[in-house]
Amino acid sequence: MRCRILFVFTILTVAASTTQAQSKLSSKWEELTAGDFKQAIAQAQGTCLLPFGILEKHGPHLPLGTDLLNVRYVAEHAAEQEYAVIFPQYFAGQIFEAKHEPGTIAYSPELQLRLLQETTDEMARNGCKKVIIVNGHGGNENLLPYFAQTQLYQPHDYVVYVQWGHEPTKKVAVEKSGPDWHAGQSETSNTLATHADLVHLDRAKEESGADQLRLKLPENVYTGIWWYARFPNHYSGDGSTATKEQGEADVQSWINTVVRAIKAVKADEESLKLQKEFYERSSHPLDTPTK
Ligand SMILES: [Zn+2]
Repeated sequence: MRCRILFVFTILTVAASTTQAQSKLSSKWEELTAGDFKQAIAQAQGTCLLPFGILEKHGPHLPLGTDLLNVRYVAEHAAEQEYAVIFPQYFAGQIFEAKHEPGTIAYSPELQLRLLQETTDEMARNGCKKVIIVNGHGGNENLLPYFAQTQLYQPHDYVVYVQWGHEPTKKVAVEKSGPDWHAGQSETSNTLATHADLVHLDRAKEESGADQLRLKLPENVYTGIWWYARFPNHYSGDGSTATKEQGEADVQSWINTVVRAIKAVKADEESLKLQKEFYERSSHPLDTPTK
């Protein structure tokens, strides 16, 4: 009898966990079956994330894929709170300023735009009518708004949103003077929170991340070599002062920001309508009312 009760209990437990496994859809595109994918797109209300990283040196102590690892960590945790379908690993961004360092993958400007356009087109063809590019790489901050602007060049039946940055976090670690822009205290702290096993904190002082101040130009004059002029080691700041506590606070703030973005995008019914109106008017501008 005891045996039978145990057997029935086991059957019930297995059945319950199978139902649970079926009802909990993965948010990762590559983990879904074709059938589950349809359900996932419906559950996400057509909202998909494209976490955008890069492959570049990160000082002497962080992995090449730091931006990709961190932005995917954030996207995956955000999607657990507010469901969205997440596109697989994407790293074809703007990183010419690190071409002199080992391990950098820097595709041509044409390919960067073409690949991104075909990627979002393919996402949309598969039901992602709202694509949120979640940016994890500072060097993309001109590319991505430009990409979003180019969506007005010709009609699309979907909307591209670009998300980057998050509310500043109260500093837990000791504040350092000078720029902390790349593999420094902040980014190293974040990586300690997301992938501690990949951080080589003991190597953080093997190179200098200090600003070399080699260009004497006013702030309102831009030149592409500015970054190399200031940070030739592709390191900005001092990673040795990083703490996991700081990283956890910062990453949580970033996750919260992405959750809010997903909710806002799901609720946005205007962008697609206005795009349609704009494309239609653009095809015959002389009919647009003027004074
Ligand atoms: Zn980075």
